Amino acid sequence: MQELIQKLAKELDETVATGKDSLESFRLKFISKKGVISQLFDEFRELSGEEKKKVGKALNELKQAAEAKLKLLQESLESNAGEGDVSIDFTLPSTQNKIGNLHPLNLTRYKIIQIFERLGFNVADGPEIEDDWHNFSALNFPENHPAREMQDTFFVEKGNGEGSQDILLRTHTSNVQIRLMQKQKPPIRSIMPGRVYRNEAISARAHCFFHQVEGLYVDKNVSFADLKQTLYHFAKEMYGKDIQIRFRPSFFPFTEPSAEIDISCLICHGKGCTVCKHSGWVEIAGSGMVHPNVLRNCDIDPEEFTGFAFGMGIERVTQLKYRVNDLRLYSENDIRFLKQFKTVM
Ligand SMILES: [Zn+2]
Repeated sequence: MQELIQKLAKELDETVATGKDSLESFRLKFISKKGVISQLFDEFRELSGEEKKKVGKALNELKQAAEAKLKLLQESLESNAGEGDVSIDFTLPSTQNKIGNLHPLNLTRYKIIQIFERLGFNVADGPEIEDDWHNFSALNFPENHPAREMQDTFFVEKGNGEGSQDILLRTHTSNVQIRLMQKQKPPIRSIMPGRVYRNEAISARAHCFFHQVEGLYVDKNVSFADLKQTLYHFAKEMYGKDIQIRFRPSFFPFTEPSAEIDISCLICHGKGCTVCKHSGWVEIAGSGMVHPNVLRNCDIDPEEFTGFAFGMGIERVTQLKYRVNDLRLYSENDIRFLKQFKTVM
């Protein structure tokens, strides 16, 4: 019997629990009523007094060791819970984590936001699925404006012309300006970055969706000089101190007067190249003083308040900053293109 006890003690010592099953088989073998130690105790009772003396102590120690071992195994299994298979080969080479980077459009968006936030603009957001009033009517688009045509706008639902309105994918982020002016009274100083949709054939120069940042500043005594200075500051912050800026008269239904903003060509520095179509200038934004009708549509008195608004395409700003010449690259998810922006920021 002594030999058997020694053998079991050794086995017990060497037991490693690799899971719940092995723990249970350990318990059945050593601890349970039908286990080996129980059997040994049964046999022990049959022994003579002399023999009992010999093995009694060792048998008791074996029983205690088995109980302690069970406890130990249970604890080690619990602390390993969730770590899965313990038979991991730690000598294998590790898999490298690939660190991603910001999408170029997000790089530009964050940069634009950062520049305007320093001037006191906050960021506003609004729905991409919009009704006709917020996308067109409130912005002073006349009833027959071509932008309302099917070939320029994605309509989600056609209204009946009486109670229900057309529902569409917004064609610019100006809807956010309207929503902002409806719920907040001046002073308003916000920029609105977001995705917009137009029904265009996809090519290197046009896409059916793109991103804009618009800005709106409405308060007492806001003038065209404020607009000029704000965008002048933006262009210098975005493209560097040597940039030239010019305002060209233009027309938009929602601003009066209106102006397009050009910057000097970053590629040829004004000498003329294909990007600037040999003019030395490239367009980056549209702008103007908010039309009095737009203010009235939002219950803001144009006699008391004036404001300016501007809008620019994030793709356009990115294209000029990073010399990307195909708009489609932004949405193709080609990692060879995207990872080139890893070192930017
Ligand atoms: Zn040029």
